[in-house]
Amino acid sequence: AALISQMLVEPVGIVLRWYDELQVAQVSLARLVGVREVEPEPGDAAERPEGRAVRAEDVHFGYRPGVDVLRQVTLAVEPGTRLALVGPSGAGKSTLGRLLAGIYGPGRGRLTLGGAELARMPAEEVRSHVALVNQEHHVFVGSLRDNLRLARTDAGDQELWRALAAVDAESWGRALADGLDTEVGSGALALTPAQAQQVALARLVLADPHTLVLDEATSLLDPRAARHLERSLARVLEGRTVVAIAHRLHTAHDADLIAVVEGGRITELGPHDELVAAGGAYAALWRSWHG
Ligand code: ATP
Repeated sequence: AALISQMLVEPVGIVLRWYDELQVAQVSLARLVGVREVEPEPGDAAERPEGRAVRAEDVHFGYRPGVDVLRQVTLAVEPGTRLALVGPSGAGKSTLGRLLAGIYGPGRGRLTLGGAELARMPAEEVRSHVALVNQEHHVFVGSLRDNLRLARTDAGDQELWRALAAVDAESWGRALADGLDTEVGSGALALTPAQAQQVALARLVLADPHTLVLDEATSLLDPRAARHLERSLARVLEGRTVVAIAHRLHTAHDADLIAVVEGGRITELGPHDELVAAGGAYAALWRSWHG
């Protein structure tokens, strides 16, 4: 009898373990494609943002239970301003960026956009207001038109060309043999890294979110292409609220507000001059960047 019950119990155990792995796999996939992992419950009253300020109030977050990556994070990003996140590698800057873009929900505390809780807004709505910009996943297999229309499925060709022109990509786009029908993303006509990033920027122009979370990461581009792209990016950023994960000096220096992230906490918050005068971690960072 013991053997039989073991035989019966064992497969259930296996299924449960599979189920665990399946859940982990689903979560990882969500991270990979940058979509939200949690949708609001259907019964939830939909929250509508009133205004554009992004706020974090006493936010805690961890990727695994019991391991907090962010702790007691409180900050406000006023519309049209630029916030730079600086700090050592692994401090939690990118994680905070993803939370502010509504990709993850906070474990504790509140993340709001115009007073409405991000976690209670439908993903579509969040995406129409806030976009995360990084150097990953820029071009998918499909035509240039398909790639651009990911941002706005109803955009007509004229709008697509305008968006390409806005990011200095019209000339190479017009030179493609099949124009917007050209298959990009793989095979014969893979775009250069710089072109792929211009496609990503053109998508932003089409989606037109008022707030951008910019994760510069390390550039894969040669200096000339990087400078060219930076000009296009500067134009796209104009007039929007920007949260920049700063890896370079001038990004932080030019920001209205700088948040120093260390060990998952915000340890300093203020404008450049104030933080330099305060003589703390940012001042030390500034000196080392300078020197
Ligand atoms: P960097 O400047 O090197 O990009 P960062 O300040 O942006 O670092 P995060 O990338 O936010 O830091 O990482 C904070 C902590 O969370 C690190 O310990 C990191 O290992 C962990 N972490 C980051 N992303 C994930 C993830 N997807 N799953 C699990 N842990 C993660």
